[in-house]
Amino acid sequence: MGAYSPIGSSPALTLGQYASMVPKDQPPVVGMIGGGQLSRMTAEAATALGIGFRVLAERPDDPAAQVVRDTRIGSHLDADAVLEFATGCDVITFDHEQVPAKILERLIERGISVRPGPSALLHAQDKAHMRAALTALGVPCPAWSTCSRVEEVASFGDEHGWPVVLKATRGGYDGKGVWVVSDIAGATRALATGQGRGTEWLVEEHIAFARELSAQVARSPQGQAVAYPVVQTRQMNGICAEVIAPAPSLSDEHAVRAQEMALRIAGDLGVVGMLAVELFDTGDELFVNELAMRPHNSGHWTIEGAVTSQFENHLRAVLDLPLGDPRARAPHAVMVNILGGDVDDLYSAYRHVFARDPELKVHLYGKAVRPGRKVGHVTLLGDDADDLLARGRHAADYFTGNIDE
Ligand code: ADP
Repeated sequence: MGAYSPIGSSPALTLGQYASMVPKDQPPVVGMIGGGQLSRMTAEAATALGIGFRVLAERPDDPAAQVVRDTRIGSHLDADAVLEFATGCDVITFDHEQVPAKILERLIERGISVRPGPSALLHAQDKAHMRAALTALGVPCPAWSTCSRVEEVASFGDEHGWPVVLKATRGGYDGKGVWVVSDIAGATRALATGQGRGTEWLVEEHIAFARELSAQVARSPQGQAVAYPVVQTRQMNGICAEVIAPAPSLSDEHAVRAQEMALRIAGDLGVVGMLAVELFDTGDELFVNELAMRPHNSGHWTIEGAVTSQFENHLRAVLDLPLGDPRARAPHAVMVNILGGDVDDLYSAYRHVFARDPELKVHLYGKAVRPGRKVGHVTLLGDDADDLLARGRHAADYFTGNIDE
């Protein structure tokens, strides 16, 4: 390309030099790696904010790829595809935690912002790394150890009591890679599932929790942070099924403790964006189970239920903008996931569920229905959590075909 000489300037500048001198009149572009439903819902927030939003999706029919015009198709494991995708974005962020650190470091070497950065993200990628870091911070976790042989699991079980929980340190989600084992035979079977794949294992004390909670915070690079109300989650077969916000009858003391823990973890691990801290509540104590450094299923209620949704605050955080108010708009919000069932045509439920409950809010992700797969969710706001839960379950069951009236 030839040199470009704006009137009155001398000497001549290349186009690139000139471009870097003129004030940027375009809003920033956020690039999100992963084209799932989290990306699709972040796109809605990006649209409202009028910012650029680019998605790296594996397939053209991924939930976000269906709706985001600036979608690139490629694998998050392909370093060249990720670099090409990221070039021209102002910041790169994620809808899942599976991008290898090496690929992200390469982006950073090229001057591209990655938020959260690879060293923070490692705590959400590797459960053993997470446990070691949280233990060093003095955050309460189940007793744990890394292990590779059944004898190690046996001696851990003899010391801490059976059953124990065996977890693949990497690559698990929605309970895949998590095994509750009651004896040596169970441990042998679980470890055998990783054979030949180089799986590394974590063995944990089984916590007899009364319920599971999630504490979400957003944190920006300059260190501003906001905490959402602590919610109760219910998992079925390792998959989040329902969320109640705020967690019913959680004492102020425990709610504040959970929020403080999440804020501290975000600050100490250098998280930027949304952080979800999944917790076990035994009634007396709170233990950290897991960390997620992205928008999270436990925060879908915030779209309608909070002043600022988790998706908007994730974008604000990665762009280092002031964060939005995380407070709830109603005394209670309930979110129920629509898990794939017998009915393929989810749209066919709309006439019935909308007629039955005009307050119901529905989000469908554009996914093909497969048994147990998260294909959408419903949200309700109001005063009575039990009533909201009954109505939310009814709607979700109608979508999946479990009930027909
Ligand atoms: P994933 O990363 O696949 O979501 P998690 O570590 O969150 O896996 O575990 C999935 C589910 O297994 C948890 O939500 C919880 O219900 C159960 N679980 C995990 N760890 C323990 C534990 N130490 N004690 C009791 N239950 C556990």
